[in-house]
Order: sequence, then structure tokens, then C-alpha cells
Amino acid sequence: MVDLKQNKAYRIVSHAAANKYAVPATCCYNLEGIIASVRAAEAKKSPVIIQLFPWAIEYADGLLLHAAAEAAAKASVPVAVHMDHAQSPEIIKRAADLGGFDGIMVDMSHYEREENLAKTKELVAYCAERGIITEAEPGRIEGGEDGVADTSGLQGVLTTPDEAEEFVATGIQWLAPSFGNVHGKYGPKGPQLDFERLRGVVGQVSDRVDFVLHGAGTEWFNETLFHQVIDAGIAKCNINDAFNSSFLKVMGEKAANTPLTTLLELVTDEMQKDIERHMDWMKSTGKAW
Ligand SMILES: [Zn+2]
Repeated sequence: MVDLKQNKAYRIVSHAAANKYAVPATCCYNLEGIIASVRAAEAKKSPVIIQLFPWAIEYADGLLLHAAAEAAAKASVPVAVHMDHAQSPEIIKRAADLGGFDGIMVDMSHYEREENLAKTKELVAYCAERGIITEAEPGRIEGGEDGVADTSGLQGVLTTPDEAEEFVATGIQWLAPSFGNVHGKYGPKGPQLDFERLRGVVGQVSDRVDFVLHGAGTEWFNETLFHQVIDAGIAKCNINDAFNSSFLKVMGEKAANTPLTTLLELVTDEMQKDIERHMDWMKSTGKAW
């Protein structure tokens, strides 16, 4: 049996939890996002987690994963590779068998509770046997993001301490609570986060798992809000639009009259700046070992 405590992703997030900061987990869709993540981590002396959706595996037949894994292995700071929102047993097994993922989010949140738990337990064991740690989402986080199956027809369900307990029993290392956080766009009032609920969940199971925030990659999340969620126990924050929007913006503005090589360098630089800013906000800057 592999010792999951030596797993790189596990060590990165455990270190963040122990030292009261959060590690940014960057949802990458292309090589530029991967390069920007590693360059930001090296420039800021911060750990980072590169995340890929199942889409990336299907679209590029594993090539982006292998690029991410090589970038992680060569980096001068701790970098791990994690699959975000893997929503079927087939893709989870395929991802685990490809080699290169340190972690996989076993997201069965589109099933009702009993089936979610049973499937999660089986898939967590499959990953653990291959040295891969797992994240799960008790309850259901509202909304959707590019590359994730649309669950917007399903209502969000907030996580309770009892549910957290049930999911921890499946053998996961990370828990992604639903406490008012939303994938994609927040309403006009911004995030309405239920910190009481988050603290209740954290208090219940923090001796066994670390906590992940989904839905942090929007204009609403600033330094103050990141510090609040970190104070409440979050140790990994997924970001997506927060830097990928720069890819689209620069492409939109410059693609018509810029050579492709220059354009790719420009988008990479802009995404790197966005990620570096988030490292400062999440207090991961300078925390690499
Ligand atoms: Zn998510």
C-alpha cells in the first residue's frame, strides 16, 4: 500500500493548512496556463497545484497532463497536478491509470447522497491503491464552469458537519464544502458565504482532512475575502476565470495584428501576473520549501 502522506499534492496542502495560508490551484486549459502557473510559483517562491478538467484529458488525449506532470517535476518549487471535478467512474479510472495525477476530485455530487457516498468510497479506494489522493464535495456547490458537466439544473445543497463526517469516512484527504460559494458568477450582492457553517464543518473533521474552496475565481474575491476563508480553515483555493480571463482578453485585443509567438508570450505573461497576485492574496508567497 502506497503511503499517501508522501504524496506531493497532500504535502503541499497539509503545509498550507499547518502554516495558515492557502495554495492556489489553477484550472488550466492549455499549455500557456501551465507555463504561467509554474513561472508564477517560481517567481513568488510559492507552491502551486495545476488543475485539469476531464475535458483536458479527452481533448488532448492525455498530452496536457503529461506536460503538466513534466513541468511539476522540473519546477524548483513544489508543484502538484490534480484533476478537478471528475464526474464519472470511467474518467476517474482513466485519469488514475494515465499516470501523472497526484490527486483527483471524485465529484459524484450530481448523484443523491447515498449513491454519491457509495460511488465516492469505491473510487477513492481505486485512486489510493495507485498513490493518488482524493477530494470530494459533500452537498453540492451551485453553478457550473467551462469544462465541467452542467449541473445548473440541480439545486445547490449546503454541507452539514454530519455529511462532512460521512465523506471523510470514505477515505478522502480533501473536502470541498458548499457554504454559499458558487461556481461561475455570483449574484449582484456578491458572495454570501456562511462562515458559521464553514467553521462547523471544519471543526468537525479538520483532524482528518484539509479544506478546498471552489468558486473563488471571480472579481468578488479580493485579499480581504481570501484572508477570511483562510482564517476559517481553507487551505486550497481553486482559481479559474481569475487568470483565464486574461488569456481571452489579450487574445481578443491583440490577435488580429500580433505575431503568434509574441501573442502566446503576452497571454502567458498576463496570466502569470494574475496568478502571482493571488499568491500574495492567499499568503502562499515565500512559502515554498
Ligand atoms: Zn469547482
